Amino acid sequence: MELESHSLFLYSGCSVLSSIGTPRSHSTNTNARRQLFAVKGMKSIKKTEKKCCLCKSEKERSIVPRTARVQMYKETGIRIPKNNRCCKSHLANKRFTPEVLKEKIILTEDTNMDSEEISEWIADLTGLAFKKGPLIDFEYNSDLTEEDYQILTGYSKVDFDVIMGYCKSLHSSINRSKRNAVAMLLIQLRLNLSQKMICLLFGIQKQERVSATLEAALSALEKDFIPKYLGLSHITREELLEKHSVPAFDKLLLSRVDDEEGAPLEDKRLQLIFDATYLYIQKPKDLEFQRRTYSQHKSRNLLKPMMVVTSTGYIVDATELYFADYGNNDASILNHMMKTTPLLNLFEIGDHAIVDRGFRDAVEQVEDFAIYTHMPELLPKTRKQFSAMEGNKSRKVTMIRWVVEAVNGRIKKKFKFMDATIQMSYVPKLGRLFKLCCALINRFSPPIFTPSEITEKLVNLAVRRSELDNRLRKNLEQDGLLTRKSCWTLVSHE
Ligand SMILES: [Zn+2]
Repeated sequence: MELESHSLFLYSGCSVLSSIGTPRSHSTNTNARRQLFAVKGMKSIKKTEKKCCLCKSEKERSIVPRTARVQMYKETGIRIPKNNRCCKSHLANKRFTPEVLKEKIILTEDTNMDSEEISEWIADLTGLAFKKGPLIDFEYNSDLTEEDYQILTGYSKVDFDVIMGYCKSLHSSINRSKRNAVAMLLIQLRLNLSQKMICLLFGIQKQERVSATLEAALSALEKDFIPKYLGLSHITREELLEKHSVPAFDKLLLSRVDDEEGAPLEDKRLQLIFDATYLYIQKPKDLEFQRRTYSQHKSRNLLKPMMVVTSTGYIVDATELYFADYGNNDASILNHMMKTTPLLNLFEIGDHAIVDRGFRDAVEQVEDFAIYTHMPELLPKTRKQFSAMEGNKSRKVTMIRWVVEAVNGRIKKKFKFMDATIQMSYVPKLGRLFKLCCALINRFSPPIFTPSEITEKLVNLAVRRSELDNRLRKNLEQDGLLTRKSCWTLVSHE
């Protein structure tokens, strides 16, 4: 290739090209090719293949990728000779990490290149100009806007940085940076994209790399993030009472009205709401797994974690996943939790467990621990309707229990992945992903329910009314109007 000096000016701007002679050892035939040119005004790193050209380390080195060389030139004006080596730790996704670009780099005084090197350098720069890079990049120098962060990950830039703070055990790899790894995981949970689509967005060649990246990011967050915001041991009973409870509900549950002086109840009691949430999965090929995950109730295959939530909607815990077959009803799951988890470390005598009718077989066992159990009333088969008192009791439970349904809804709305039918390939890590979603909600979302003065008034009203029987019904009963034979007279047209 014929060297044309003005080609270089296009890229280096202020550089001045001048011939400085030829190395003696070369024959005259190669002189023209080996002639060295000093490019004044262009800074360069010394040519070396033996050491890392940045920190001089001689350990694990790899050739500096073209994208990294061009990145360095674009951002710092420093050229790195082709075939120079550097430590793998300086690279992420074939680019230098932001730390490297901030380091002081030892430079040669002049940049000397022969014509071939100059040609290659031009090719590198033009190659980059026309090469399609990844569509999105979450590195520090990326031009993603605040809105892009929100749309893609569901979190602001500031929140994203907070999450990154918990990823100390995550390492960059040659294919992707730490930030991009975490972004891929959040995007997956938020938008439920196919792995092929993630490959396309992040400029990754092989789908296996996406799988490995999601696993690496999840493992890091599982180590340092999830245990801080989820689990029966991540918070004390006192903190739950202080920050995540609605004290007025104690009165509602105990049907106690404040006396005339408005004396409050002596102790705050913990109110924990239990409910299983359904995660729908693809129909498994394995017959046993297919049978065990099939829910008669929903006529679909699913797995279910048990949620333990406070009356403000704070998620204390989301358990491992349970099967959906007959043996895994809500009552048996709660029994299993009482025996195998530190649940009883949070509960004290006189606390409240709020459940729905599916837990009826576990009530006795929970009450053995002197924990009040509150459940909507069960209608005996011989009767068609609840009495007013029973209805009121059910309504009191609903006044508190709705929040767990709202929490389940919030998770599925925020993380589309949990709302969709989950692919079998994700099922082995589904429980871990679900816990991550819950921990993220706890860390970044406001309470679902915040008590106010009105709560207090409503509770007092509900407690007073709950003792009143339905006056209309009583009157109808007295007048014999509730029997089937009650005489309805036909209204004539005339
Ligand atoms: Zn190095």
